[in-house]
Order: sequence, then structure tokens, then C-alpha cells
Amino acid sequence: MLQVEAVHKSFGDFTAVYGANLTVGKGDLVAVIGPNGAGKTTLFNLITGQLKPDKGRIVFKGEEINGLPPYEICRRGIGRSFQIVNIFPRLTVFENVQVAVLSQQRQSSNIFSPARNLAVAETNDILESVGLLDKAGNIAGSLSHGDQKILEIAIALGNKPELLILDEPTAGMSPEETAATMRLIKQLASTQGLTILFCEHDMDVVFDIAQSIMVMHHGQTLIQGKPEEVRRNKEVQEAYLGGEVDA
Ligand code: ADP
Ligand code: MG
Repeated sequence: MLQVEAVHKSFGDFTAVYGANLTVGKGDLVAVIGPNGAGKTTLFNLITGQLKPDKGRIVFKGEEINGLPPYEICRRGIGRSFQIVNIFPRLTVFENVQVAVLSQQRQSSNIFSPARNLAVAETNDILESVGLLDKAGNIAGSLSHGDQKILEIAIALGNKPELLILDEPTAGMSPEETAATMRLIKQLASTQGLTILFCEHDMDVVFDIAQSIMVMHHGQTLIQGKPEEVRRNKEVQEAYLGGEVDA
């Protein structure tokens, strides 16, 4: 479904992504790990069009998407959430997701029906699938940090992605919230046939749920493989030896 080939990205003299390679098959649950500053967020920004690669190719469903604007990449089926929470804090939980559903359906300018009555069932379905239906009427900014992160996933689902990219979906969460979020991600992958690419700093979680793990170090891909392969890999062990194991 997604192929990233030898992608590079520099900011001035500094090269943040230096030969990243990644393969994501349809229905896969793939994790990207690597120390802080390894280039994971930059890689995600390159895939979703927030940044343009200097070199390399990004192919989604057989078509090159490098350099396309974010809305076009989103329209083609890649949804994402951000490392830093990105919601409309003054809207309700329901409205946050409804806006995403409507923009996906291109109904936001339907003049014959009050906007609040549109896409209600679909919005509720999404809220139910992430466990936020009982908080639908709450103001988004008043939710706990953990629930705001989940809301972000719900907003991304509103765009009906085939590939969902989650940048540190459990950042700042308690161990309990982290476990619940990981269960949710696993469940979304299995029950909704979603393909999911995420990065995450909790190694236990990554090795527990990911089917494939790509390791980044200094902007480069060290390896991508099954969890057992990655765990056994010498270069990975060296990159992490004595260092902070972080995503
Ligand atoms: P990660 O998500 O793995 O922690 P990032 O992709 O956020 O890493 O960052 C990789 C490196 O690129 C870091 O050293 C960061 O400071 C740098 N970087 C990221 N974005 C920019 C930018 N817009 N301008 C300059 N440097 C950047
Ligand atoms: Mg990051």
C-alpha cells in the first residue's frame, strides 16, 4: 500500500531524513521507532505532504505522491494524527468529528440542510468505535489529555482513510491510557480493515502489537522487519546500547 524509497529531507545544512525506506502492506500494523530526533515525525510529514522530500520516492497504492499537497494526499486515503494534539478545542467532541466527516463527503456547503443535522449517524459510529460516544456533547478542550489524543484519532477516521498514520498516539498518557489506546489501535486495524503506521516510545507496546517495525537512527532506516528480527539485530542493539530507548 505504501512504499517509501530512499527519501531525504534537509532543513538548511541539517539533514533530518537521510535515506529512509519503509514498506507498509495492506492491513498491516507497522511501527516506526528510533531515539528522539531520529526523524520519525519528519518522515510522517513527508508521507502526508506537510513537507516535500528533496530526494526519493513515496508511492501510495501504486502512484507517486511525493510533493503533492496534504489535502490531495488525504483525499487519496492517508489520514493522520499529530504528536501535539490538534483539535478544535471550543467545538464539541461530536462537532470535531462531524467537520471531518463532512469535509470528506464534501457536504460542508450543503445549503439545504442545517449543518448540525448532517452525517450524524456516521459521526456517532466513529465516536462509538473509539469509545467517545458518551462524551459526544462535551467541549473538546475540556477532555483529559488522553481523550483529546483519542479524539484526534476519531477526527482522522472521519476522513475515511485507508492508511492511518499516528504520530506518538500515546504521548503524555498514563500507563492505563496507553494500554487502552493500544488496544483501540489494534482493534481498529483488525475490525475496520485499516492499515496503520505509527510511532511510539513505549517499546513493550511496540513489540507487542506491531507486525513490522522500522528502526530509524540519525534519519536513516537501520532495518525493517518482524519484531523478533528487529530485536535480534546487532545494529539496533548498538544504536540503543546505553542510550535512551525512545520513539
Ligand atoms: P523525531 O520525531 O524522531 O523525534 P523529528 O523528525 O521531529 O524527530 O526531528 C528530526 C530532526 O530534525 C531533529 O533534530 C529536529 O530538530 C530536526 N527538525 C525537524 N523539523 C525541523 C524544521 N522544520 N527545521 C529544522 N530542523 C527540524
Ligand atoms: Mg516526533
